Parts: sequence; structure tokens; C-alpha cells
Amino acid sequence: MENNHSEKVQLLIIGSGPAGYTAAIYAARANLKPVLYQGIQPGGQLTITTEVENYPGYADGVQGPEMMVDFEKQAKRMGADVRFGMATAADLSSVPFKITIDEEKIIEAEAVIISTGASARWLNLESEQRLNGYGVSACAVCDGFFFKGQEVVIVGGGDTACEEALYLSKICSTVHMLVRRDEMRASKIMQQRVDKTPNIIVYWNTEAVEVLGKQKVEGVKIKNRKSGEESVIPVKAFFVAIGHTPNSDIFKGQINMDEQGYIKTINGSAKTNIEGVFAAGDVQDKTYRQAVTAAGSGCMAALDAERYLSAKEA
Ligand code: NDP
Repeated sequence: MENNHSEKVQLLIIGSGPAGYTAAIYAARANLKPVLYQGIQPGGQLTITTEVENYPGYADGVQGPEMMVDFEKQAKRMGADVRFGMATAADLSSVPFKITIDEEKIIEAEAVIISTGASARWLNLESEQRLNGYGVSACAVCDGFFFKGQEVVIVGGGDTACEEALYLSKICSTVHMLVRRDEMRASKIMQQRVDKTPNIIVYWNTEAVEVLGKQKVEGVKIKNRKSGEESVIPVKAFFVAIGHTPNSDIFKGQINMDEQGYIKTINGSAKTNIEGVFAAGDVQDKTYRQAVTAAGSGCMAALDAERYLSAKEA
């Protein structure tokens, strides 16, 4: 039965990062009439990054948000039905799979591609949550501008933290970078760039204990994990860049996942343990997590979905 609150589709794609849009491009070209729901952050994580230098085809580099507009345009040009909306619940127990959009509309799909990506992690300090939006941010590119000429803290020692520290170093007077161990997880090239930037100060073995300030960030209390010594850095902003969590909550208990919530795919494919449900991009990849690998896995998911749907028809 179909009414205003339910709709039958052949292939539903959830998520609008490189994985989702690439799946949509391939599926639309294969005439699967894919419907893609973009989620809360159309374009995904690349919309909060700066320059992407390592996506093949953009010889001079490209801004992340611009690249995602290109992906979306291409998916639409191929005929994908791209819609704004968030998948809020899922029932994968039988075909058609039932996905609830914005808590009201139900999409009944013959096949589903999950490409919901991952979200920024927080330290979960009370002060961090309270001052979120008032100097606390998980996106240097979005919010760095507001702290022009000022001192800021960034937490993390991965590629994201390095990239964001470098970005902030061009805007802010000093970037205090807190790394919890005595080494970074980031690639050598990113670390070298950080080392060569005079206004980034790296604090090794250091954690943030508290973000100070009532209405807005006024400083950060830090602690050396080796000596236990505490001190305060007076800064106007506190950026967190400590990695991501897969956006897989609505599928918990229904599909095979690892202990961190990454959806498990069958090696060399985008297939999950549920026939007809495929996963692509960061929601199933904690190793590579690159735009180009996400796009590649989106392509795999569309091809797997196409084979699944045509075998069903035959
Ligand atoms: P990562 O998981 O690689 O790094 C997370 C960093 O945050 C680590 O230094 C980690 O420390 C630290 N951390 C985690 N939890 C805490 C905590 N509670 N308190 C303090 N520090 C913490 O995440 P990224 O987002 O940096 O990168 C994700 C992936 O994306 C990587 O594969 C990366 O290579 C890639 N990437 C590539 C870029 C590029 O090529 N230009 C740019 C950005 C990302 P510890 O090491 O101790 O666990």
C-alpha cells in the first residue's frame, strides 16, 4: 500500500558523501532509478574540509565543498533523485527494507546502499559540551575565521588535527596543539608541515582537562600526562580533531558490525550479511577513509546492487 507516508523505490541510497553520490551516479546510469537521501550534512565530511589535493582528476586541487557540489550535479545529471532528508529508523528484517525518513515517511526499498559516513568525535568534557558553538568547535574550517589574529587550542595528533592546525596557523596568531602521546598518528608529510610552521606549538603527552569560560572560551586547562603538572593556556577557541565515529546507530542489532560500529562488508565487495543491503564509504571503512576510496566503494555498492536486483528479476 502506498500513501503520503510511504513510497516504494527500487534502490535507496542513504548518505551524500563521495560514496553515496558515486553509487547514485552508477545506479542511475544502470537505470535503477536510485533515490538518495542526503542526511543532515549534504555532501558529508568533505564539506567541512579545505583543499583536497589528493583526489585524482583535480590537477590543481579543489575545495572540499566545491567537489561535493560537482558530485551532486553529476548524480542529478545522470537522473538520480536526490532529496534532502535524514534516515531516522530502519527495518532490515525483510524485503522490502523499510527506512523511515525524518521520523515520518517510510521508504520501502528492494535494495539499500548505506553510505552514512562518520561523524566527528568529542572529548566529552562537560565544559566542552557547554561551550560548543561559543568557541568550542570540531571544524576549524567552519569556525577558524571567527578567531582571526587570536590564540587557539587544537586537540589531536592525526592527519585531520595537522591539517586543521595548519589551516588555523594562517588565520590565528598561535595554535597550541595538544597531543596525548609522545608521537603523532599523522602521516610524516603532515607532521613535517606542522614542524615547519613557527606559530604552531606542539604539547606532547598533554590532555585537555577543562575548557575555561562562562559564556565563551577564555582558556584551556591542560595536564601533562607524564608529570601530572597542570597549567592554563589563555585562548579564545578550542578545536577538537580526534577522529570519527561511524553513523550506523539506526542499523544496530540488525546488521553485522564491529565493536566500534563500522558495518562489516564481505571482502572484495560492498555486500553485508543481509542480502540486498550494501555498505560503502566511511561507515564501513576505518582504515583508508579517503574520498577516493569512499567513491570506489560507492561504485562497488551500485554494481553489487545492480547484480542483486537483476538476479531477483530474472
Ligand atoms: P585518526 O584516528 O587518524 O587520529 C585521531 C587522533 O586523535 C590521534 O592522534 C589520537 O591519538 C587522537 N585522539 C583520539 N581520541 C582522543 C582523545 N580522547 N583525546 C585526545 N586525543 C585523542 O583520525 P583523523 O581524523 O586525524 O584521520 C582519519 C583518517 O583520515 C586517517 O586515515 C587519516 O590519514 C585520513 N586523513 C587524511 C588527510 C590527508 O591525507 N590530507 C587529511 C585528514 C584525514 P592516538 O594516536 O593516541 O590514538
